[in-house]
Amino acid sequence: MFANNEIGTIEPVAQIGQIARKHGVLFHTDAVQAYTQVPIDVEEMNIDMLSVSGHKIYGPKGIGFLYIRKGVKIRSFVHGGAQERRRRAGTENVAGIIGLARAAELALSDREERTAREKEIRDHIIERIEREIPFAILNGDRTNRLPGNVNFSFQYIEGESLLILLDGKGICASSGSACTSGSLDPSHVLLAIGLAHETAHGSLRITLGMHNTLEQADYLVDSLKEIVRHLRDMSPLYADMVKADMVKKVS
Ligand SMILES: *Cc1c(COP(=O)(O)O)cnc(C)c1O
Repeated sequence: MFANNEIGTIEPVAQIGQIARKHGVLFHTDAVQAYTQVPIDVEEMNIDMLSVSGHKIYGPKGIGFLYIRKGVKIRSFVHGGAQERRRRAGTENVAGIIGLARAAELALSDREERTAREKEIRDHIIERIEREIPFAILNGDRTNRLPGNVNFSFQYIEGESLLILLDGKGICASSGSACTSGSLDPSHVLLAIGLAHETAHGSLRITLGMHNTLEQADYLVDSLKEIVRHLRDMSPLYADMVKADMVKKVS
């Protein structure tokens, strides 16, 4: 992955590309999260193949593209016709293709201003949560992360309860990846970066879009503060902690 969908970390793709090239290994990157959010140069980064999805960049659903470096041969993955130079049989989805191209054009035309705005809101949320909510752990890198990604673990509470209460306030967030929604297993990404199971369970992923504002960010943090306090008040784990006098700075 060029950038992780859950914790937003931007991977050292240029270095990976360099190593892969040096050893004659083909290099494919899933850039679904990164495309139009971070600068990408397939030449400089020695990327042989790169995949993108339309609906993540305000394009239509059901369309994406795979960049294939000239000279790289791939086997057909949809058989039956000679379309797409025998790589993908089936009639092209022209409306989807045009929609994706237009979405990419628009997103790339203002990338710097748009992502600078998102970063400002992202950092505002991160700073306020760290300052105002105790026992909140930021997941992923502080600055080397997607402009629109915030991911925190709130100790002693359940991510699912957090989501339901946020939803009640009109805030859509996620506890991990949409691919695993409905599953009760903690995120494999959070476990892989060393979080304990119970900490991973209390995680919240907030994704900003191009229309979000600083006012909304404040509404989010204000709501979150209230909800986290409420859930911790009900949490036996947290009560035990307080009793054990381990909690020094609870507001
Ligand atoms: C969303 C996503 C996908 C899947 O793309 P769809 O077009 O929604 O199937 C793949 N990789 C990453 C990193 C994503 O964020």
